[in-house]
Amino acid sequence: MEIIKITPQGLCKGVINAIHIVNRALMDPNTNKPIYMLGSLVHNQNIVGALSKKGIIILEGKTRLEMLDHIESGTVIFTAHGVSKEVRKKAEEKGLAIIDATCKDVKQSHEIIQEYLENGYLVLYYGVKNHPETEGVLGISSNIIVVRDKEDIENLPEYSGKVALATQTTMSFLDAVAFHQLLLKKYPQIELIEEVCNSTRIRQQAVLKQKEQLDLLIVVGDPSSNNSKMLKEVAEKKAGLKAIMVESLEDLKQYNFSGYKRIGITAGASTPNAIVNEILAKLPQGVFQTELVTDDYLVSKK
Ligand code: SF4
Repeated sequence: MEIIKITPQGLCKGVINAIHIVNRALMDPNTNKPIYMLGSLVHNQNIVGALSKKGIIILEGKTRLEMLDHIESGTVIFTAHGVSKEVRKKAEEKGLAIIDATCKDVKQSHEIIQEYLENGYLVLYYGVKNHPETEGVLGISSNIIVVRDKEDIENLPEYSGKVALATQTTMSFLDAVAFHQLLLKKYPQIELIEEVCNSTRIRQQAVLKQKEQLDLLIVVGDPSSNNSKMLKEVAEKKAGLKAIMVESLEDLKQYNFSGYKRIGITAGASTPNAIVNEILAKLPQGVFQTELVTDDYLVSKK
């Protein structure tokens, strides 16, 4: 059995930046306590669990606005997925200290969408409903419509004005283009603002490039991570590969790899390097017991 590490791997710049911001806040004696986080900093439970052990209170709830109801004082961290203007305003009105760990690519996506709206476009957003990034984008304007599948297209209004299709940063770039093609039948004038981030795109491209070489792909990622899910989807639907998704070395115990000759390993943009490195080292030996400890998950470099 040959194990092929598919590069690029490692935490993306947005996740590394978010971890650095939070680590700095934890070390700064002037940070107002308690420190709350509106949901998961990034979609990886190992990273979130490690931050929780360091004293950060991770809030859960249906929306970021609702989560803020649970905070009376201290510091609030906005996660890498970004927040709406209403969330920022409410946090300010409550007098909370704000630490913004929003990824630059997400911020840029908000700015571009805002620009299109100001220029009179009807903006459709190709994204995952109820995802925090989508929630943040919907806070830009109540006129933005989220679309994800063919059924959503059927429910769209007739419109002859300017229309644009924006995309969540972690979608499949090929699916975004295909969805735009579908929408052209309803709105021949629709423009595609393709905002799949580079970290997401290059991982998907690397999987597509390797498709002839592999008979199995292991995607290492958290089930809540959209870019990890998209990697598996691209592998199965676009590259025709058999693919499995695991969170850690220990998850691999349940599989029998004896029938596979060439196994590729890729990872989502929020998967700690330590997890992938441990899999690469131990899978060939058939060892599935992890030796990682909390701090390993917060190390951003190999
Ligand atoms: S996956 Fe892309 S958008 Fe998300 S944090 Fe990383 S760089 Fe930013």
